[in-house]
Amino acid sequence: MELDILAFGAHPDDVEIGVGGTLIKHAAMGYKCGIVDLTAGEAASNGTPEIRRKEALKAAGIMGMAVRDNLGLPDARLQVDEESLRAVIEVVRRYRPKVVITPYHRDRHPDHIRASQLVREAAHLSGLHRWPADGEPHRPPVIAQYFLAVFEEPSFIVDISEYYVKKMGALAAHESQFGQPSDTDWRTLVNNPRFIHMLQSRDQYVGSLIQVFYGEGIYREHRMIVDDITKLQGWKRKMILETPTPLKGW
Ligand SMILES: [Zn+2]
Repeated sequence: MELDILAFGAHPDDVEIGVGGTLIKHAAMGYKCGIVDLTAGEAASNGTPEIRRKEALKAAGIMGMAVRDNLGLPDARLQVDEESLRAVIEVVRRYRPKVVITPYHRDRHPDHIRASQLVREAAHLSGLHRWPADGEPHRPPVIAQYFLAVFEEPSFIVDISEYYVKKMGALAAHESQFGQPSDTDWRTLVNNPRFIHMLQSRDQYVGSLIQVFYGEGIYREHRMIVDDITKLQGWKRKMILETPTPLKGW
């Protein structure tokens, strides 16, 4: 199956945090979207790989994803080595996406930084006929990056206001990560209820930059090419008048 958009995360909840709304929106528009998690998240303080896989699949269902795979690379030890490159190249060659989205190349978590480098390198090498991996060569024309712990100037912003309740639903599916601290083994940054408030504040701030309620910023390292400038979007004619209600307890 070929995908229009393929998003990679280092951990099974990265994609939802950074670009969940954008993927939900594009799936709703009829594009085939998929997620590949590089690791099973076994080094996280809370949850097990089995629980996290179930949660990830539940979230993918909420988001309308055509596929969600897990490469099982080592969590907290991601490397840009030949074996990992091959695993990512084979995924890129299998799904032949038009757009690949990775974590932003600067972040607090070393896995996010390496995931970014790994996927960007693999997306390029995947186009080389003589790179020894399974599948026909394919180089995705567009590589984009989403923000996790670090937010910097985005290249463009996607209005996700209409899909915000669904984004929160997809995050809620990761109960072992974002559940209340009383239900989990360890108190961490993300299972503090304030984490979701923090994310909502950022999504609102990013939305406010284009005068909508919620937005996700996307970064591109390379210049964007536009053939038809009438397809560029400027200010919206009408604002959405009702703020989507955040999930109960959040
Ligand atoms: Zn992560």
